[in-house]
Amino acid sequence: MEIMKIDQPRKIESHPLKQTEIPIPMIGPKDILIKIRTCGVCHTDLHVVEGDLPMTTYPRIPGHEIIGIVKDIGPKVTMHTIGSRVGVAWLNSSCSNCKYCKTGKENLCSSAIFTGCTADGGFAEYIAVNEAYAYQIPSLYSDLHAAPLLCAGIIGYRSYKLSDIQPGQRLGLFGFGASAHIVLQIAQAMDCETYVFTRSPNHQSHARELGATWVGNPNQQPPKMLDSAITFAPVGEIVLRALNCVDKGGTLAINAVHLTDIPSFSYDQIYYERTLRSVAHTTREDAIEFLKFAEKTHILTEVNEYSLFEANEALEDLKYSRFSGAAVLRISK
Ligand SMILES: [Zn+2]
Ligand SMILES: [Zn+2]
Repeated sequence: MEIMKIDQPRKIESHPLKQTEIPIPMIGPKDILIKIRTCGVCHTDLHVVEGDLPMTTYPRIPGHEIIGIVKDIGPKVTMHTIGSRVGVAWLNSSCSNCKYCKTGKENLCSSAIFTGCTADGGFAEYIAVNEAYAYQIPSLYSDLHAAPLLCAGIIGYRSYKLSDIQPGQRLGLFGFGASAHIVLQIAQAMDCETYVFTRSPNHQSHARELGATWVGNPNQQPPKMLDSAITFAPVGEIVLRALNCVDKGGTLAINAVHLTDIPSFSYDQIYYERTLRSVAHTTREDAIEFLKFAEKTHILTEVNEYSLFEANEALEDLKYSRFSGAAVLRISK
């Protein structure tokens, strides 16, 4: 099968992902073999390619927003059948035995494996995964439009929950890429007001088109203080900017697998019972809940199509905010 893989991390401008051919993966008794149709391109893939995540092992096939068709199943598979359409996300497996796995916090499992980071991912024609880590995809979505739901959507949904925002309140979104454009719609479905902070003129007009309550750049103060906020940009300074806009008792959730250092800050910025927390990975329950929520509330994804062999270009365009919404690789029909 054809793949795009990274041997050693390098800046995306040098187009380090190389086209190669390897055998189709073998499946174990509980695994399914998926013929990949589309794979979304996430900011985390850029971190994998550029070497920002110390846990990544190389060489590696990136990609963790995978949509495809089950082509083969192991003898002990009960959850999926050949021919069904499934998705694979960032969480590739977890131990099932630790205190986190036993309490539904498998995202914190120390033995968790991550698709396209510590296991090979979806910039390829096929992938094999344990059946319990593949999800039915709502028929509402095309292969292209479903892909961004698998990470941008699921992690966005978890960030939304961890921000403690309640229906009718004011939510701030700092950064407006693939994940934020989905969170905006989740918040709208919950009757929240949405305040979007981004420097990119593309992203600002995208937020306006989607009906954000207010749009500005990250240095502006919003007209009203926010009840909760989520930061998406991998830059520590943005956390302090966001904290300045969060009201007493509010929560700021950091949706980032990698973040530059947060500059030191005064206790005043977090005083009055403000909560600052990170969002680390996602659980299977997040995936299942969010896919149902997306179908029920008709969350739309804006996609920009690339071929498998244009993965370098897609990641470079992502790095420079050259498109709105999400990039998706079309791998097969
Ligand atoms: Zn575990
Ligand atoms: Zn991702």
